[in-house]
Formats: sequence, C-alpha cells, structure tokens
Amino acid sequence: LREDEDEAYFSSYGHYGIHEEMLKDKVRTESYRDFMYRNPDVFRDKVVLDVGCGTGILSMFAARAGAKQVIGVDQSDIVYQAMDIIRSNQLEDKITLIKGRIEDIKLPVAKVDIIISEWMGYFLLFESMLDSVVYARDLYLSDGGSGRWQILQEDSYLLPPTYQNCISKELLPLGIKYILKINTDFMILEKNNLCLSELEFTTDFCLRMNKTTVCTVMFSTGPQVTKTHWKQTVFLLEKPISVQAGEELQGKILVRKNKKDPRALLVTIDLRDRKQTYSLQ
Ligand code: SAH
Repeated sequence: LREDEDEAYFSSYGHYGIHEEMLKDKVRTESYRDFMYRNPDVFRDKVVLDVGCGTGILSMFAARAGAKQVIGVDQSDIVYQAMDIIRSNQLEDKITLIKGRIEDIKLPVAKVDIIISEWMGYFLLFESMLDSVVYARDLYLSDGGSGRWQILQEDSYLLPPTYQNCISKELLPLGIKYILKINTDFMILEKNNLCLSELEFTTDFCLRMNKTTVCTVMFSTGPQVTKTHWKQTVFLLEKPISVQAGEELQGKILVRKNKKDPRALLVTIDLRDRKQTYSLQ
C-alpha cells in the first residue's frame, strides 16, 4: 500500500473513541494482559516491539511484565496521546514510541526478541494489518524469537484457532445457534512461518445439520461466546434453503484481498451449486 492510499485507514485510528472501544473490550484487552502478566519469564529482560501500539496499552503490559525495552510504533496521531499515557504511568524509561508506519520507520535496534500486536480485524483478516506484523517479523524478529511468536498465539488468543462457536445470538432470529456447527477448520493460521500468500485462501467446508429446518449460514472469527467489539461476521444466503437433520452441506470459501482496496476482503462462498459473493468494505 502506498502511504497516501493508507491515510484514511490511519486517520480512522487517530481518535480516542475507537481506542476506547478496544480498551473496554475485556475479552480482548485482558487476554493480552493476562498472557503477559502470567508469563514474566517470557518477557524478563527482553526487547519487545509493539506493532501498532495505539494508546500504548500492550507496550505497558509488556514493560510491567518485565521487558527491558519496549518499542511501540504507530502511524496514527493516537501515538501522541500514548506518549502522555506512558509518561503518566512513569514508564518512559522503558518504552520508546515512534510515529510512523512500521514499513517506513527505522527501529533504534537491529533485532527484537518479541513482537506483540493486536492486528485483528473483522472476519479476522479485514484491514490486512497482519501483513505489517509479518513484515516486522521478517525484518526484526531475532532468530531465537520465533518461538515467542508461537507462544503468544497459543496462549493469548492472538489468533483464534478455528472458526468454531461462531454463532451470535443477536444476529440469529432463527435460533440457528442450535442447528449449525461448523465441524471443519476453515484455516489454521497458527504457525511461525506464515507467509502473506496464505492470507488469501480457498478451502472446503462442511456443515452437519442436527435438525430439520430452514437455515442460513454464517461464519465469524470470534472463538469465544463472550461478546467482543469484533462482533460476528454474518453471511446470509440470498434465499433460504431447507436442510435435513444429518445432511452435510459441502461448500467452498474463497478469501482474497480486494485489489481496489487492499485492506478490504472479497469473500466468495460457494454452497453446492449456489455462488454468492460478498465484499466486506
Ligand atoms: N495496540 C493497541 C491498538 C490496536 S489497533 C491496542 O491493543 O489497543 C491497531 C493500531 O495499529 C492502530 O492504532 C493503527 O494505527 C496501527 N497500525 C496499523 N498498521 C500499522 C502500520 N503498518 N504501522 C504502524 N501502525 C500501524
């Protein structure tokens, strides 16, 4: 992405409101906090990079967990507020904040031991911010650091492991919650050497019906039942279809970036012989 094309994206993160919403999302913020506070051995005396530090919350968790030095990077103007917040918490000796895109700036260190980041968007991959984390990993993560990457993912829900439990009550007037369960992993991103091409994918899925009814199909990145600010991403079928208990719906899901707007995704769901295209803008 060119810098000018990305201006709207970063100004959307420039205001406190969106950060307040994220900070108040307890599932999100406390998962990151708990992981760091419960694993001081991982952080002790380490150099940590926080990709997209926003208000600096994760940087402060890392500093309090014992990191030697934390470098927080953010291109949004929110970083100026982060500077005040870090000072108010008297962590300015440990945390250095840099305004800029991770792809453009030069870090004050050659390598870091740990990368932390809250890069997740709607439908997990919307925003394409994971690209920036992968960029930072390739450039800055020390060789011995890759293991940390995995630990963070596994223990703090950095990456929802599957798309199971993806059903939201509010969005389901039909009570589909009780009838659909996705029994196939769409895709598992938990690995150290994930590369960008894997973030566009197509994969088969199979939904087993346990009740005879009229249903719609949905998918979400949300692995927990407790609500998060990401809510759920819902894909409604154009027309209702009848399903039988025990029946399996075979399909394919194709996820790719929107060439015209690379932070948006194009998701195509092909359910048997029905093809429907959704654009998450
Ligand atoms: N870490 C904070 C903010 C997460 S929101 C928290 O957990 O509350 C993601 C932040 O990443 C936004 O503030 C956005 O401006 C920033 N960001 C996204 N891509 C970036 C990039 N390539 N370089 C620098 N900052 C980036």
